[in-house]
Amino acid sequence: MAGRDVAKIPCPFCGRLVDRLIEGMCEDCYVERHPLVKVKETRVLRCRYCGALFIRGRWIREGRGGVEELAAKVLSDKASVSGAIERIEASQSYDGLTARVVVKGSPHPSIEPRLFTYVLTFEYVYDICNSCREMLSRREVAVLQIRGYPRGIENDVKKKIIFIIEQELYKLKDKKIGFISDIKDLKNGIDIYTTNANLARHLAYVIHRQFPSVVTETAKVVGVKDGRKIYHMTYSVRIATYKPGDVIVLKGEKMAVTSINNKYVVLHLSERGRYEQLSISELLRSEVTFIGQH
Ligand SMILES: [Zn+2]
Ligand SMILES: [Zn+2]
Repeated sequence: MAGRDVAKIPCPFCGRLVDRLIEGMCEDCYVERHPLVKVKETRVLRCRYCGALFIRGRWIREGRGGVEELAAKVLSDKASVSGAIERIEASQSYDGLTARVVVKGSPHPSIEPRLFTYVLTFEYVYDICNSCREMLSRREVAVLQIRGYPRGIENDVKKKIIFIIEQELYKLKDKKIGFISDIKDLKNGIDIYTTNANLARHLAYVIHRQFPSVVTETAKVVGVKDGRKIYHMTYSVRIATYKPGDVIVLKGEKMAVTSINNKYVVLHLSERGRYEQLSISELLRSEVTFIGQH
């Protein structure tokens, strides 16, 4: 019996001589190429205020089970595990979550089930959870309403507005002037909620400078605190969305828009055969009947 050599086969992947190959490779190479835990999605949404994670369609906060319990929930959503999870050690930072997972199982029927350890990393992508959003909206003290007249605001203009606002917020990032708690994209414009009235006013004038528009402010008393009135401020930016060729009736007279810029509109009074220049503010504050393109 002794001295009976078992023929060894080289593994085509690592070159080691082994007794048998599993699907054309040694057991170590097989195990390495067939992990029991496969990550399907590495990105996880996280609330920038409370740290809740968005898992299986819900915002989950860290409970008594700590970050390990959170990691287990992330795994159940973002990874597939074949085998039994024996242990999880996890840690998180601003950038993401790292989990060291010990799984008992086997990647192949001819491999004895045993413990395998995997280190998985998930990247955090920041957002605001529902309850923080609600909390912020209760703190919201001002709204900036952007509307178009006589036409609504087109999508590419909306994108431009959002871009201008993002750039402005970036410029203001070191000044403590509050923040935007919500942006609502509406059919006829955009509503931007802020936690600070000065921020809403500032943004209103930034938008105003870039478009033919007028700004109006309204204050509404929403309550009294410590004997002082609490106001809810609305800053409304009305953007003139007239185009050359539009026909309007102004002060009973029919006229056509020939050009429009951020300051003036030039109108052609066809009946009198002359042109008139009107400031955007005069145009938007006058009673105008919009007829349409001619
Ligand atoms: Zn091998
Ligand atoms: Zn939150």
